Amino acid sequence: MSFGNRTESRAAAVVMAAGLVVALGSLGCVTAPRLSMQAERCRIEVRMDPAAHRLVGRTVLDLVRTDGDALPAGQKPVSLELLLHPDLKITQLQTSGARGKYRGTVKTDPSDEDAEFAPRKHVVLLDNAVDSLTLFVEYQGELFQDVSAGEVLGEIHNVTMRAHIGEEGIYLADGYWYPKPVADEGADPILGDYVLIADPVPGLELAASAQRDPVLSAQTGWLAWRTPYPVDGMVLVGGPHEIHQATHNHVAINLHLKPSQAAHVEGLIDAVRRNLDRYEPLIGPYPAEEFAIVDNFFSSGFAFPTFTLLSSDVINMGKRLQTRHGMLDHEILHCWWGNGVHVDPRDGNWCEALTSYATNYYGYVLDGDEENARRKRRNYAHFLGRLKPEDDKPLDTFDREDGCGRGVGYKKGAMVFHMLARKIGQENFWAAMRRMTEEYVGAYASWDDIRRVCEESAGLSLETFFRQWVRGNGAPGLSVESARYDSADQTLTLALSQGEPTFELEVPIHITHAGGSRDVVVPLGTAFEEITVPLEIAPISVELDPDYHVFRKVPLEDIIPTTAGTRYGSSFACVLRAGEVQESYTSLQSIFQRSFEENECITRTVGSIETGALAERCALILGDAVHDPYVAGFLSAIEFPVRFTEEGFEFDGVTYADTGHAVLCTAAHPGVAGGGVTVLYANSDGAIPAARTVPMYDRSLVIFKNRRPVLRRDFEHRRIVQVER
Ligand SMILES: [Zn+2]
Repeated sequence: MSFGNRTESRAAAVVMAAGLVVALGSLGCVTAPRLSMQAERCRIEVRMDPAAHRLVGRTVLDLVRTDGDALPAGQKPVSLELLLHPDLKITQLQTSGARGKYRGTVKTDPSDEDAEFAPRKHVVLLDNAVDSLTLFVEYQGELFQDVSAGEVLGEIHNVTMRAHIGEEGIYLADGYWYPKPVADEGADPILGDYVLIADPVPGLELAASAQRDPVLSAQTGWLAWRTPYPVDGMVLVGGPHEIHQATHNHVAINLHLKPSQAAHVEGLIDAVRRNLDRYEPLIGPYPAEEFAIVDNFFSSGFAFPTFTLLSSDVINMGKRLQTRHGMLDHEILHCWWGNGVHVDPRDGNWCEALTSYATNYYGYVLDGDEENARRKRRNYAHFLGRLKPEDDKPLDTFDREDGCGRGVGYKKGAMVFHMLARKIGQENFWAAMRRMTEEYVGAYASWDDIRRVCEESAGLSLETFFRQWVRGNGAPGLSVESARYDSADQTLTLALSQGEPTFELEVPIHITHAGGSRDVVVPLGTAFEEITVPLEIAPISVELDPDYHVFRKVPLEDIIPTTAGTRYGSSFACVLRAGEVQESYTSLQSIFQRSFEENECITRTVGSIETGALAERCALILGDAVHDPYVAGFLSAIEFPVRFTEEGFEFDGVTYADTGHAVLCTAAHPGVAGGGVTVLYANSDGAIPAARTVPMYDRSLVIFKNRRPVLRRDFEHRRIVQVER
């Protein structure tokens, strides 16, 4: 059967042959019962004309019913709904396996995740319910977005992009660029096999979230891809690129780069090879035969099955992208976690936690760089201290409605995996991850599935661990209340507290004595406990978990000052020089102000700063403003660790007087609990670091030379408790 297109809004009621009055969609009237269906297989064919932003597509969907109900008895009409981009019109629709009729479209409400974008719902009426059928849908239209409108300074992702075809590039991801059936919310989600065939686009190289299929390509004369395992959708992108190819063991590596990015080819290929060598022994073989890095025309660092899509700015970071942990390594590991093993949408998103653990953090462990590994663990714990109580939601709510934010999803999540690996043993943990790759690539996995593979690997129950760290919120507020040594008994008695709710913990304690130090681990399961440790040498002092192996709530005054502190709280001042201000500084001001309400921000310029203006406000002091007498007095009163002089600045007894020197420094603000005072000062305009990079430095102090960091410091406050005797 074949039906022509009927596209105008047809919200009016129509009368069906059976005599039922139906209205479509949001009118709230009765409609034919909807059959919940999902695609088991999907074949997409597209032709694109970038100059005209045009797409002509044909999709064949093999649908299966996923509501689990028995078929209604008799010949009762049911409806089937498809979602498609609002700018794409269906020109032809055929069914096979059921008699059906295209009924038209209904407008839908924008989804929660995107206030602007709502796909259009197309309704197909079927004479009766069936368990499976095949749909043939032809459609066309223009896909164009104002790319620059979604670019936000200091943000890594332009999240407004949905579906765009232009000469600068093609991006077809989650914008319903091919029809998707609507399933009941309660239906178990299924993954499908996808085939994509695209007419080559002169001037642009295409990449898809699947593997090339040379046989199909030869048959059709078009480019062809096939997914290596079941997935939840297809992504097609393209750009004015050259393709550079290499192989590593069983994996073909493709780089889609602009000609101007040719200098990065070698570094990127080395980085992919290095990460495959590093991680395959730990987490199992790379789950496909191809991996691509694709340059993108808008701000992005996205991971899709078999490729990562990185904005030109990110690729042009060069060595920083290739070697810094949490960058390219993070995107590559999403090929396993998130895009190989899929996050079960019925539970929270675990893939960012696991990927952050294995790359942003564990990358340093693999380097043997314990100093930076500790720094990451410390910063993960410190982040929680500034979290508002109402935002302290369980990790398993990440990416769910009204769920926790990225801080919990990534940082706490990474620490939870660190604690899990410590609990079951690092080797057992990696064995569990290999098991997960073996069993779950091309399938959904939930937190319970992770628990199961870890329990089986370690042979112990992790019920309590997952209940307190994944399903529950918060963290213990650990502290050593007192430490007493009894030399007759040779025992050290520690009074430990953790507040409520209580966690079952293994708490590391670092004990210092005249001859050196000793590390012990003590159990704690209640809010307050006195614990006795046998010790033959008289101790001098103790420190609780100095290496941050236990995720805990750190008091505000112990959090290391970084720019995040200056973006905390409810009042903010920016101090600038009078007259014209360098663009980097005004950009930085707007990035910081985004953390506050408009009425919480003030701007002051040199020479017109009232007394007390900064006393109770987080402050960002930029450039020459440091020389204002009020500012200079304020900085000296708070014992700001950098001194500004005629020639430049001084830190730690060293003068930095070169015209290329600049300093970014944050000190704790004594008048704002948990807040900070940040100064960015450069000896010349050309030395000012790029505004968008400034918030990325999670350090108290960074000294730059020619915009590259040459010295990094953290001002850390340690709680060392003296032992009473
Ligand atoms: Zn990620």
